[in-house]
Amino acid sequence: MLLASCSSRYRYARIGSNREGTAIMPIRILSPDVASQIAAGEVVERPASVVKELIENALDGGARTIIVDVEGGGRRRIRVADDGIGIPAAEAALAFARHATSKLAAAADLERITTLGFRGEALASIAAVSQVQFVTRAAGEVAGMRLRVEGGRTVARDSIGAPQGTVVTVENLFYNVPARLKFLKTDAAERARIDALVTRYALAYPERRFRLTHDGRLAFQSSGDGDRYATLIAVLGLDTARQMLALTPLPPSPGASGEGGVAPTSGLSPARGDGIEIAGYISLPSLSRSNRGQITLFVNGRWVQDSRLSYAIVEAYHGLLMVGRYPAAVVFITLPPEEVDVNVHPAKTEVRFRRPDMVFGAVQKTVRRTLLAHLPVPEIRPAPTWERPQISVEGEPVPGFSQAGSVERDREEAEIAPPSTLHAPQPLPLLRVVGQVGVAYIIAEGPDGMYLIDQHAAHERILYERFMAAAASRAVPSQTLLEPVVVDLPPEVAATLAEELDLICGLGFSVEPFGGTNFLVRAVPVLAARLDPAQALYTAIVDVDMGEPPLAGTREAQIIARVCKSAAVKAGQVLSAAEMQAMVRQLEACAAPRTCPHGRPTMIHLSTEQLARQFGRLG
Ligand code: ADP
Ligand code: MG
Repeated sequence: MLLASCSSRYRYARIGSNREGTAIMPIRILSPDVASQIAAGEVVERPASVVKELIENALDGGARTIIVDVEGGGRRRIRVADDGIGIPAAEAALAFARHATSKLAAAADLERITTLGFRGEALASIAAVSQVQFVTRAAGEVAGMRLRVEGGRTVARDSIGAPQGTVVTVENLFYNVPARLKFLKTDAAERARIDALVTRYALAYPERRFRLTHDGRLAFQSSGDGDRYATLIAVLGLDTARQMLALTPLPPSPGASGEGGVAPTSGLSPARGDGIEIAGYISLPSLSRSNRGQITLFVNGRWVQDSRLSYAIVEAYHGLLMVGRYPAAVVFITLPPEEVDVNVHPAKTEVRFRRPDMVFGAVQKTVRRTLLAHLPVPEIRPAPTWERPQISVEGEPVPGFSQAGSVERDREEAEIAPPSTLHAPQPLPLLRVVGQVGVAYIIAEGPDGMYLIDQHAAHERILYERFMAAAASRAVPSQTLLEPVVVDLPPEVAATLAEELDLICGLGFSVEPFGGTNFLVRAVPVLAARLDPAQALYTAIVDVDMGEPPLAGTREAQIIARVCKSAAVKAGQVLSAAEMQAMVRQLEACAAPRTCPHGRPTMIHLSTEQLARQFGRLG
């Protein structure tokens, strides 16, 4: 009796429920279907993971051209076509078996992975959670092979004429895994992840041609001509690409005799002793971001996430960025395959380095060196006066700048003046305008040499100081619109405006709520009268991240700076001689003429001496 009650209580516990109320069952081995869905979940998290695996297969297969066509954010259909080596007809079905790979034979191979794939899981995983059509023809075979695999089962196969290469069409992703479907974001968000992925791979493989369409519309393409900078422009746009610096390789580390790497055998090869190569692009300090999302890392051609590596890059900007701002970067690290373990996770987006400190150190040094080499030389470097031109304290930290921590300063770091030092703003001498170059810069001559003035930055500074002075005396001139304008703002912008209405109205705007997210604009500041009233109001409220560091100073100063930025003359605007002369006169009258309100230089000064030295007239 006692025994019986014990055992029944025991059984109760086993088949009853746990704390969350889920049924607990006896141990048994999962059915192959369930097991493969679980395994698939680790590889295929969302549409972009499918694109990633298929692109990696195409790259491993030696494709020169990779065409990605996406529909419905990838949920409805993803098609990746390549012109690589293809799969022999007899092996095609095997490619869909779990742990089937042509890239790895023995366990020892895991220590020297040179392909992107090696686990033999991607096709099996994708096919387990979607409906796949696979067409492939290997080089040298007359006919191609077509397979249909649904939910992991091959439902049709036939021989078919096809060009050499492979075309994988993945439809109705997660049609049999409703739980996963629920976790997907909007089509636009999934699409954005795919865009990020394809463009990053295009950057990593500039010698391959990539083409991406969404719902039949071209979203991105690269030429495949090997020009990485051209690809960078295609990805970021010219304006942003211009603010990126190409990484300059480190010289061979002195005394490195090739521990784990290649020792230079001739004077020709500048290979570093540790066999590490670092290439890519990093942003100038003027192009900062509010998070680390713009740091992309490739290790041996593989896109990886590595917070310590990202940190190494951020650290290299030490003192050059405001607190809370991050650089943008695409960094390609190449090192001997035995130096990295890529077999960390099924998605293969994490790696372990055999000598992590060596890798992080090399990345950080390369980034730092590149930055320092490109920053303006001290004589023509503008003082980072930011918002407080009147302060003149040597050696006092500027609020908002990251402070020098315990990080050991290397020699290169010592080459620049500590960034956290304020200099007195130097007034400008009288300048004579010589002309305009590149429809962006004014060339002027002063008693002490040549000045190259950025017309937009200079005008921003002029407007800003005038506006600030007017605001300080509570007399911002305002221009009444001939007809009031109703502006409908996005909800979050409307909310901010409602909160800051008084502030905005003190700055020359006359705005009143007009129901819902609508506002009625009756007047705008005179300085912004050239702008469309809706645009003027919008720029005042919204921090459009134009790659500028956030402004220090009061909310009022921030609003003023934003309005001035959008009201200022732009690059590309032709200026008459009189306009240029007037602008230079106004700049001379500024308290801090040498920087724009964001701290970027308004001008580059080449002294008479520097010119003479450059021309070899001085020793
Ligand atoms: P892995 O890439 O890890 O080997 P996959 O499941 O992604 O595993 O692919 C299985 C195998 O199918 C690969 O090893 C390769 O031989 C073959 N394969 C898949 N896609 C392609 C392709 N686009 N071109 C050539 N071969 C391919
Ligand atoms: Mg693969």
